[in-house]
Amino acid sequence: MIRQFDEGDLIGVLTTQPLDKVLDYRAPEGGCLTGAFVEVPLGPRKVLGVVWGPGEGGYDLSKVRSVIRVLDAIPMRDEMREFLIRAGEYTLTPMPAMLRLATRSPGLGDPPSMRNVYRLGSARPDRMTDARTRVIGVLQDYGGLAFTLGELAEQAAVTPSVIKGLVKQNVVLEEQSPRDLPYPRLEAGPSRYTLTDEQERAAASLRAGVEAGDYGTTLLKGVTGSGKTEVYLEAVAACLAKGRQALVLLPEIALTAEFLSRVEERFGARPAEWHSGVTMTERRRCWQMVGEGGANLVVGARSALFLPFRDLGLIVVDEEHDTSYKQEDGVLYNARDMAVLRASITGAQVVLASATPSLESWANAEAGKYKRLELTARVGAAVMPELAAIDMRDEVLPSNRWISEALAGEVRTRIEQGEQALLFLNRRGYAPVTICRACGHQIGCDHCDARMVEHRFLKRLVCHQCGESKPIPAKCPSCEAEDRLAPVGPGVERLGEETTALFPEARVAVLSSDLFGSARALKAQIEAIAAGEADIIIGTQLVAKGHNFPLLTLVGVIDADLGLQGSDLRAAERTFQLMRQVAGRAGRADKPGVALLQTYQPEHPVIRAILSGEEEAFWRAEAGERQAAGVPPYGRMAGIVLSSPDVQQVFDLGGEMARRDMPLRRIGAQVFGPAPAPIARIRGRHRVRLLVKAAKGAPLQAALSEWVGQFRLKGDLRLSVDIDPQSFY
Ligand code: ADP
Ligand code: ZN
Repeated sequence: MIRQFDEGDLIGVLTTQPLDKVLDYRAPEGGCLTGAFVEVPLGPRKVLGVVWGPGEGGYDLSKVRSVIRVLDAIPMRDEMREFLIRAGEYTLTPMPAMLRLATRSPGLGDPPSMRNVYRLGSARPDRMTDARTRVIGVLQDYGGLAFTLGELAEQAAVTPSVIKGLVKQNVVLEEQSPRDLPYPRLEAGPSRYTLTDEQERAAASLRAGVEAGDYGTTLLKGVTGSGKTEVYLEAVAACLAKGRQALVLLPEIALTAEFLSRVEERFGARPAEWHSGVTMTERRRCWQMVGEGGANLVVGARSALFLPFRDLGLIVVDEEHDTSYKQEDGVLYNARDMAVLRASITGAQVVLASATPSLESWANAEAGKYKRLELTARVGAAVMPELAAIDMRDEVLPSNRWISEALAGEVRTRIEQGEQALLFLNRRGYAPVTICRACGHQIGCDHCDARMVEHRFLKRLVCHQCGESKPIPAKCPSCEAEDRLAPVGPGVERLGEETTALFPEARVAVLSSDLFGSARALKAQIEAIAAGEADIIIGTQLVAKGHNFPLLTLVGVIDADLGLQGSDLRAAERTFQLMRQVAGRAGRADKPGVALLQTYQPEHPVIRAILSGEEEAFWRAEAGERQAAGVPPYGRMAGIVLSSPDVQQVFDLGGEMARRDMPLRRIGAQVFGPAPAPIARIRGRHRVRLLVKAAKGAPLQAALSEWVGQFRLKGDLRLSVDIDPQSFY
């Protein structure tokens, strides 16, 4: 409940500092409301906080300090506060860390900074030049609109000095205007297309949900190219028409470029953006405007979920199965699940869109918790690609070659037909391992239990765990033999080399996140490829997501078995999703596509399911296995990782935790471990892991808090709890 506090009242303030309680302060001059963002003194510092409620009191009140000032931002709404509390309880995250997620706006609370803008004045210039005529022309054309210096110079094709010259003569006026301007209101024009019957049915159902204005989650499942985006944009249109705000979450920055132009086309302007590629100024503007209602559509990455929406009516989570929705450091949350939580609090609709849903969402739809809408056919002439295996046991490949004769033949045919082929390998760099042929030593990272990956493009060995890199040595670091180090296995860079050797005439493009300095450069490359400026594309999972390459008719998966190794409980699910996504890149326009999977185990059930395309059968079998094992989504799990530079210390604590497991046993949960984590050392810290398994309905969080609360973390020990772990490392 919002409450007004008067000057001098005792109030509790939640700060972003890692303290385990709300601190007492006195309300400042002019008073304040619950939810107000404030600056408070903490020791010698000034820190950010939110007025949480009345103060606790019960001690010497003469020492209580006053709030320094109330910040110029809309107070946190009750709905947001409840979301933070419940998300914190779910993920076992202390509230200060939750508050940090909700205040990731640079310069929050600064008065809106001003900037210079330029508009037409009434004076005449002393003499006219072509450049001056253009400047005046632009300002007249736009009838009184103000420009920034850069914008005006660009529009008029003049240097800024021309404009400054006109300012001196009062021909052009220089004025100050606040930087945080509202975004243009988006209003949906009609769809470019006549929706297919299937699309229309799905759109009608989503519209009805948005119209009702209450909570509901829908799984929108449809093969790649079936028109899902078009359908959920209908829901966005309905939401905006109702005057509420909409949020579209996308997994990768690279995806937004294509998406933004599509939104612009449909809604007449660009939406607000929130992701790591956005400038500080724009982030600040987005945060402020979302809160004030000056932005009605936000397109963003997972953290956009913590923006202070004024009236959120719809959250779309596109590619909902994508693993990047799980934040793997700091606060360990899954944006897909948190979207559902936020929507249920605020009375909004959630659309989870995917061609290959997560087993979690599939199971929720099966159980009737989510509505399920399906698009079964691709729109237009496009049909689903044909899938086949290439049995690598029958192929004879010389060493250090990975493209089979069969696959090479197909690639050749495409090039001759002026089409594109994609060779998919989910491994960055040149070679995953560098080995000394004299002594067998494999070059590892000095700080992690991981091998260094050769990146020939960067001319360095890189640790994919900690990012540490070093030059490729000439001598073996172990036996000092010279020139005996050899790369083992392929990465995309090496595959690129093989491809160029096999097809010397072809234009080969290697797409891997680390080969581009910026998201912009990557985007440019993707657009060039879509326009036909490459014959063969080599790519990591970056290319599996959402890009449209109309000329692409062949997908060759170099190692379909790659993801099936390892002990991850989601290995089968992930491989299935990834392979279906990659295959879906082929034949998106009018020419049919083919996807070929190189595999050494074509009879593996997952490979068979991918090839047969019998998705429901796959989900059912996978669900059956998880049910039998009592693992998510049919049981609950939490991963606990202990880390310290001291290996003995982590094992000692791990052992003690496993022994003193009464709080867990009380709810019927089991503890496994301690065991060395799959990556037993990262950045010099030894890592030990415990796994907790509980039945689906068990009160896991409460039991975990009580259990973990029994132990004191001495020295440099760190403990992290990951509810519903997605990756096991
Ligand atoms: P998805 O999100 O399922 O991959 P999209 O919505 O991106 O599918 O649609 C795939 C392609 O088909 C896009 O280029 C889109 O513009 C086009 N499209 C979508 N719906 C229709 C339609 N009803 N008629 C014609 N083209 C359509
Ligand atoms: Zn490392």
